[in-house]
Amino acid sequence: MTGGLRALCAIFAFLLGCVFFSFGGVVVARLPRGESIVSPGSHCDRCGRTLKWYENIPLVSWLLQRGRCRGCGEKIGAFPFLFELFGGLGFLAAFLRFGLAPETLFAFAVIWLVGVMAGIDWENHFAYDGMQIAYFLLSAGYALFLCLAREGRWSDFVIGGVAGFAVFLLIKGVGRLIARRECMGMGDVLFMGSTGVLVGWKALLFCVLVASVVGAIVELVRERLHARRRGQGRQQGAADGSGAQCAKDIGEESDEKEREVAFLPYLALGAVAAMLFGAPVLAWYLGVLA
Ligand SMILES: [Zn+2]
Repeated sequence: MTGGLRALCAIFAFLLGCVFFSFGGVVVARLPRGESIVSPGSHCDRCGRTLKWYENIPLVSWLLQRGRCRGCGEKIGAFPFLFELFGGLGFLAAFLRFGLAPETLFAFAVIWLVGVMAGIDWENHFAYDGMQIAYFLLSAGYALFLCLAREGRWSDFVIGGVAGFAVFLLIKGVGRLIARRECMGMGDVLFMGSTGVLVGWKALLFCVLVASVVGAIVELVRERLHARRRGQGRQQGAADGSGAQCAKDIGEESDEKEREVAFLPYLALGAVAAMLFGAPVLAWYLGVLA
């Protein structure tokens, strides 16, 4: 493939990712509310105004409108924009890694599915059984493809699946013993079982490493921001006196919700990183050791 054609395909992959994740954002927002994901078309949740075609362009519309509805000025938030950007970058990375190959299509499907699962877990703290099953079947299909293409040994993927499931079941159990409450959902355990099948047991370690590092950094930043907001809320409550109890109640309620960490977004990021870069990183690491 010539350089120009490769660049054109790379741009196309990025745009395709943005478009697919734009639809993925609709799934994340509507499915948990029990709404149809096809009709009605995109609209503002507050004023109900139907969006024009030019307000539906991934990334661009959000930037032009500075994250607000054109009709009522309601803040849309950064989620749709970041979600589309992640999708574009994910598809781009998949193309740069595999080129025009069947692996790229598998990677697109995996990135979209785990992206939607991550979005739903981030916003609602749960995972759909149907999506878990789809992820397992996709992972098994990819492992089978790699075995038939003689690019992997079936034992790696079987051990990966069992290890992912067993280790995370153990972490879940130990976490419950220490914290005396559920820290991790069964959805995370199932997700890691499928991820082990997808990437094999060696790259699974890379997945867990990426997920832990990114998860720790993001959650630390969120905790800091949350603490600062809580401090501001308390000052305001003390200033006007009468609202203090109310502000305290609201604060405690959001604390409870905030403390529940959604692991799936980080695990999903680790899974995609391991699928795309697990093999080269492992080869590099073993080269350094030798
Ligand atoms: Zn509006």
